[in-house]
Amino acid sequence: MKILLVDDDAMLLLRLSKQLKQAGHQVETVKDGKAALKKILECPPQLVITDWHMQPLDGLTLCRTLRDSPLGESIYVIMLTASETEDELVRAFDAGIDDYVTKPVSLRVLLARIKSAQRIVSLQEALTREHAALEHRARELELLNRKLEQLAHTDFLTGLPNRRYAIERLNQELAESRRGGRPLSVMILDLDHFKRINDTLGHEAGDRVLVHSARILRETLRSCDVACRFGGEEFLVIAPDTDSHDGKRLAERLCHAIAANQPELPLPAPLTVSIGLATASPGEDVKTLIHRADVALYHSKEQGRNRVTAAA
Ligand code: GH3
Ligand code: MG
Ligand code: MG
Repeated sequence: MKILLVDDDAMLLLRLSKQLKQAGHQVETVKDGKAALKKILECPPQLVITDWHMQPLDGLTLCRTLRDSPLGESIYVIMLTASETEDELVRAFDAGIDDYVTKPVSLRVLLARIKSAQRIVSLQEALTREHAALEHRARELELLNRKLEQLAHTDFLTGLPNRRYAIERLNQELAESRRGGRPLSVMILDLDHFKRINDTLGHEAGDRVLVHSARILRETLRSCDVACRFGGEEFLVIAPDTDSHDGKRLAERLCHAIAANQPELPLPAPLTVSIGLATASPGEDVKTLIHRADVALYHSKEQGRNRVTAAA
């Protein structure tokens, strides 16, 4: 064991430390409680064997100080006692000692007590290790859970939040806008004649166009806006703090950005998007807000696509 021997009797320190080392222990020695505390701070031992009466800091005060600190509370303490009364022994246990050995010290008895200390300390250290391992596992699980949650909210192809997240977030943003008395706009974007891309260039090219479109949306939107993949080739944009006027401008910008940034593919026709915009009216719920944006989108398609329609 790593033992710190504390006694103001230099002869005893010398003899005991030699004997304990011979018994296979690592032993450090100091001559009073104050020096012991300093040593323990530098390099905590597993066991402290301390004399009672020392200057300037006695064994009892040393023990109490240890028990008051996270570092010292679990160090095993054996007190060397001379002719203490029962009351004094009880006081020593109250101060936090684990065991005592009477002076003059019998090496056999001391070694037996150290063996018992070793058993307790090993158990304690095993518990600490298990606790640390459990904490590590808990942290790993937490991280994994967070990853899973994020995966459940993310569209695999485009990396945008998915429909589930979109609805959840829209509910939150709508409640927030109501609380703060601030406007909120949503838009549904639907790529025009997307099926033709799949039909002429294949599904994989269609996927690339979806990834490309998601990137253009992300790059064009403000940081406060949220773009989600709402369905096959449909996206939903939540624009907080945005009235119908600003919403229209933002939607026009998106529409223009898609048309102006063509993917590097031999498309049958230039890529364009139709957009339906709805700005929340007081007390409106998510379902009707989305429905109004959808109806507006339908109008954009009807009117010839590649355009924005604001809901009535
Ligand atoms: P419109 O201008 O009226 O919106 O016509 P459209 O062809 O874009 O619309 P339609 O609803 O007829 O077709 C959408 C197509 O999108 C059909 C579907 O196979 C395709 N699609 C849906 N999800 C994906 C996907 O993840 N990858 C690819 N490549 N295609 C998809
Ligand atoms: Mg569609
Ligand atoms: Mg479409």
